[in-house]
Amino acid sequence: MKVLKNGRVIDGTGAAPVDATVVIDGNRIAQVTNRNQSDFPAGAEIVDCAGKTVLPGLIDCHDHMANHKYDLTHRWRLDEPQSTRHLRTAAVLKQTLAAGYTTIRDAAGLDAGFKRAIEEGLIEGPRLMLSLAIISPYGGIGDAVSPSGLPLDDCCCIPGDPLLPESVCNGVDDVRQVVRKMVRAGADVIKCATTGGASSRPGHGPLDPAFNLDEMQALVDEAHALDRRVMCHALGGRGLDVAIEAGVNSIEHGTHLDQNPRHLERMAERGIFFVPTLLVYEYHRRSPQPHVKARAAELYEHHIESIQRALRIGVKVVAGTDAGGHGHPANAGELECLVKAGMTPMQALQAATGWASECLGWEEELGTLAPGKLADVVVVNGDPLADISVLRDPAKIALVVKDGAVAANRLAATAR
Ligand SMILES: [Zn+2]
Repeated sequence: MKVLKNGRVIDGTGAAPVDATVVIDGNRIAQVTNRNQSDFPAGAEIVDCAGKTVLPGLIDCHDHMANHKYDLTHRWRLDEPQSTRHLRTAAVLKQTLAAGYTTIRDAAGLDAGFKRAIEEGLIEGPRLMLSLAIISPYGGIGDAVSPSGLPLDDCCCIPGDPLLPESVCNGVDDVRQVVRKMVRAGADVIKCATTGGASSRPGHGPLDPAFNLDEMQALVDEAHALDRRVMCHALGGRGLDVAIEAGVNSIEHGTHLDQNPRHLERMAERGIFFVPTLLVYEYHRRSPQPHVKARAAELYEHHIESIQRALRIGVKVVAGTDAGGHGHPANAGELECLVKAGMTPMQALQAATGWASECLGWEEELGTLAPGKLADVVVVNGDPLADISVLRDPAKIALVVKDGAVAANRLAATAR
């Protein structure tokens, strides 16, 4: 038994903080109590959390743990052996967990071997929800062909990996087969793309569509038949219509949702989550590639407006960094971006805890501090409601508990 005593508890539901004690028994939360209690069983490990904030383990709904840079030599796998890259990925999985992120939804690039290695205890890392690869048609962001016509076994941002199934498909039959292959290879969620993005090739930008409605409907139906949710990269224009009408579960990026009021209305009606990924566009606004820089600059104001309208209309906005190319572990930087975009610090915390767990469909087990939930808990030396940026500093993350076990302990270092 672990007793996190007398901390300021923010439970992830949006409720005001309370001074309370969190009791962990095995891998579950047994109690969250404000009763002044000292009669814990002998042998209970008591941690004094006075002056610290206790939060649910943080969740990033859109990360790319196996990507480490945006430059071409990395994306084309020319800069290092595959084994070196795998070990680099293992190192960032460990750092990400130690930064307080106990759950990561990987939006493509990470193969199922990493999840198995974490579950077997070979390496340390967050709980993983994997998508493996981005499903798109010829010309979409998952289909990388060089200007000279050479296929690159890659997509716009993710280095290729022979363990990831081929993700380019055309026509409803082909789409259904690829969804099944993803699930066979270990996908927990299906990732697809119905538009280009900031960093995709010239000619396939944020408003350029990919997939027709029949193909997307087949993709969503097949994913749902296999009990997988669908996360869809869609920035603007007709690709958003197709994704929302087909019934995807989350819109990733959604930069131009402000341009058609019907989009956010339909998302609210259908309970579709919005994962804006602001941090990556901060990075792309400084891109050395002119077409990427111009797209990122153009979308900025639309993106902020889209988030504010989503909040007003009741679409749940959740946190995802689209990290990888711009560095690890940068996850909590997204919460600062969300506050700058108009969220309250409490809403930003919900975006990475309670609401994020709902986006993943794991709300019964994770996301809030309540009896019976899995014991993923973070103790922070500071008050994220007063200054959300404390979460970005790993030195302030005093204790990380995942599945009831201590994953990182800086309590001694952060005692004062
Ligand atoms: Zn992404």
